This record gives sequence, C-alpha cells and structure tokens, in this order.
Amino acid sequence: MTGVGKRRPYISTAWFRLGLDVGVWRTPVVSGVLSRITVTTRRALTYKGVVIPPAPATAPSSGKPIELDVAIVGAGPAGAAAALALGGRGLRVGIIEKAVPPRYKTCGGGVLRRAVALLPLDLRAAVERECFAAEIVHHGPDLRFVCRRDRPVISMVMRDRFDHLITRAAQEGGAQLFAGTAVLDVSPAGEDVRLATSAGEMRARFVIAADGASSVVARKTGRPELRGIVPALECEVTLAPEAMEPLMQTARFDFGFVPSGYAWVFPKRDHLSIGVGTTRRGAAHLPQYYRRYLELLGIGKPLREQRHGFVIPCRPRDGLFGARRVLFAGDAAGFADPVTAEGITGGILSGQLAARAILDGDFAELAVKRAYRETLQKTLLPELRVARWLAWVWYDCPRLQVGLLRRHGQRLSELMTQIMTGETSYTAAVRRPGNYLRLFRR
Ligand SMILES: Cc1cc2nc3c(=O)[nH]c(=O)nc-3n(C[C@H](O)[C@H](O)[C@H](O)COP(=O)(O)OP(=O)(O)OC[C@H]3O[C@@H](n4cnc5c(N)ncnc54)[C@H](O)[C@@H]3O)c2cc1C
Repeated sequence: MTGVGKRRPYISTAWFRLGLDVGVWRTPVVSGVLSRITVTTRRALTYKGVVIPPAPATAPSSGKPIELDVAIVGAGPAGAAAALALGGRGLRVGIIEKAVPPRYKTCGGGVLRRAVALLPLDLRAAVERECFAAEIVHHGPDLRFVCRRDRPVISMVMRDRFDHLITRAAQEGGAQLFAGTAVLDVSPAGEDVRLATSAGEMRARFVIAADGASSVVARKTGRPELRGIVPALECEVTLAPEAMEPLMQTARFDFGFVPSGYAWVFPKRDHLSIGVGTTRRGAAHLPQYYRRYLELLGIGKPLREQRHGFVIPCRPRDGLFGARRVLFAGDAAGFADPVTAEGITGGILSGQLAARAILDGDFAELAVKRAYRETLQKTLLPELRVARWLAWVWYDCPRLQVGLLRRHGQRLSELMTQIMTGETSYTAAVRRPGNYLRLFRR
C-alpha cells in the first residue's frame, strides 16, 4: 500500500482554486487551511447546564506497537459514529485523531434531521439552536419560499461540541481515543495493517479511514484523487442584536448570485454562520461573493468575524474498496451530498456501515469489503448518484433553475425540506411519477 511511488499533489485543483481566491485575501487563514491545524483545548464544554467532559486521551506506549482490532483514523462524525457502532462488544477499537478534541472544524454546523435520526444519542448538549423552518431565497428574480415543520428541520451545532459528544459516547462504549496523534503512514503487514503515527506504531486488523477530505490514508494507500470538490467559505459572524435577530429563526439558503452555488445563514446560539460555496470549476472568488452576500442581507461591518475556508468532496472516491483491509468513510470517501454539499449525514451513515460490515464479515477481508460495498450500494450510493444528477440540473442550468422556482418554487422547497428531514429521499422523489406530472402543471 505504501511506497506506491505516485506523489501527486492531493486535491490540488481545489487547493489551487481556494488558495487563489482566499490567498490574496487573508494569508494566515490559508496557511491555517492548508495545514488544517485545528485549535484544541482540553476542557469540558457546557451548554444549557449540560456538561460534556473532556476526552480522556490514551497515549500510545513507547516501544511495542499498539494492537487494535479496528483503528479508526479521524474523530469527525464519520469516525466517531463508526467507533460508537463498534462499541460494547469487547473489541479493541482505537480512534486516532491528530487534534485534541474538542477541536474547531470549518463547517456551517447544520445537522439535518435525517442525520440526527441516525445517531442513538441525545444530542441536545451539542445543539445551539433548532431551526423549524428552511427559507429558500432567489436573487434574480426575487423569490422567497419558507417551509415550516413542527419538529426541527436542521439542528445548529458548533462542530467541536458535536463531534466531541459522539466521540465521548464511543469512548464510553469502550473505544480508546489517541488524541493529538497523527497517522503518518499506512501499510500492509501480513493479515494486519500497520499504522505509523506521530506517537509510535500501531497495528490493526481493519482500518476505517475517516480522516476527511485531505485523507492521508487515501494518499498512503494509493487511492485516486478526489473529484467533485466544492470549495466553501464559512464565517462565524457576530452582529449587533437588532441586526442579528431577523436572521435567527430560519436556516436560510440563497441562490442566484453565486454562480453554480449558494450562500447560507445558519443561526447559532449567539452568532451566525454565514457562508458561500460553489460547484463551479476554476477560480471561485468566494470572498467577493461573501461580501456581496453581506450587502444583500443588509449587514454592515460585523462586530466579530472569523473566516475559514475548506473543501467538500461531493463525489464518491474511485477505488473506494480497493485498499486492503481499509474502508473509507465520510469525506475521505467523497460522500457529501452534491446538491447541498452537506456531509454529516453521509459521514455518520458510512461510518456506521463500515463498522457493521466489519462485524458482519467477521474481520474476513473479502467478506467485509463485500458487505460494505453491498450496503453502500443499497443505501448511500444510489442517493448520491441521483443527487449528483439533480445538482447538475440545478447548478449548471441557471435558466432552468429560475423557471422551476418561478413555477414550482414552494413545491420544490417543500420537497427539499422533506429530503433534509428524511421524510423522503432523492431516489424516492425521482421515482414518483406524480413529481414529474406536477412540473408540467401550472
Ligand atoms: C465551509 C463548510 C461548511 C460546511 N457546512 C456543513 C453543514 O452545515 N452541514 C453538513 O452536514 N456538512 C457541512 N460541511 C461538510 C462537513 O463538514 C463534512 O462533510 C464532514 O465534516 C465530514 O465528516 P468526516 O468525519 O468525514 O470528516 P471530518 O469532519 O473532516 O473529520 C476528519 C477528522 O480526521 C482528523 N484527521 C485528519 N487527518 C488525520 C491524520 N493524518 N491522523 C489523524 N487524524 C486525522 C481531523 O483532525 C478530523 O478531526 C461543510 C464543509 C465546509 C468546508
């Protein structure tokens, strides 16, 4: 697996696009992005009186390699959900995380109801605000559609607290967290996989690579470069209370001014996550679109503003199952939704499916890979395939987008809300003939 010899720049085009744009604008941010250094603290988090204690981290012993049944690289939603699903069985499960949780993660922090439903956990301690309405706005022509539900459509979180809550639950189920430990290399070792880490060597019978869009495991195992990369810029913004108040109740998605993309406002407890992203190839000019978006929202100079940029992989990685005894999950596998660029659902689901496949395949390499492939082909992959096709229609045919919104805006917004809540799915929506017939009705 290692020593494949191809040292190509990883997700190079996307880095270039993002760097080109963001680089001119704020170099320290870009260097932060490029190195993916995360701010970490070892402290308890408290919200509404509920305390999420700091993660007790396990330091690898020096000398002898640490033996694991399953090594999970990355404590994001994919890795943490995988570790949680493997818990309570007496397996030696290790989560190897280069940061020290809780760590900041560049993300809008919108957890769709369909993602919340996947986790057997009470997430309230991590939720900053529940949005019971989604608002879809178009800026050319001016159109606005609001879809309300009596249960939250999107739960707004800060990712440090959210990821940490799932990781803590996985630790309670028996997983060991190796915090502040980076995986540097991955190679086959007989029936095991050897992991060279910043804290020494580990060996595992199986590896779940959940190390995000710039996956080291993918690079070290010679996987092809990710495609369908969406660069996105996310800003944590604080405004004066009277300016913030009108934006605090709904999850807002704005179309029609970011070419082949959209902008969003996600309200948190006492600030807003405002961002822009595009599926367009070439220079993304995201900082300019972000500034334009603030103008459209009527926002002057924010009281506080922290900008972060990163990429979202919206196309499943080729060769997902090729690496020996290594399963890819979440962003490392390219499982974000091509329509919304939302990746937490795909991360959690694929982490759980990878864990399930290892258990069902009883650690036999071929049986595990077959089980993972089959369950993905029954669940996530058809969804992503349909979503990719819809994303193409939506983002690459702007006149059609406007025409559809003019004639069927409320209906389409309701359908999208149903998909976000899990009331329906992309595959179910395109299979329903009534949905096409309605497009031709006025
Ligand atoms: C600007 C922006 C806004 C977004 N907004 C949303 C949103 O609102 N809702 C949504 O659902 N999705 C959103 N996404 C997408 C979402 O953030 C990702 O899809 C999701 O985080 C993927 O989860 P993951 O567990 O696969 O990877 P990650 O969350 O990226 O976690 C990977 C983990 O692996 C660790 N790691 C990396 N390399 C190593 C290594 N070598 N050794 C050890 N550990 C390592 C990292 O530190 C990290 O903790 C957004 C993304 C961006 C960029």
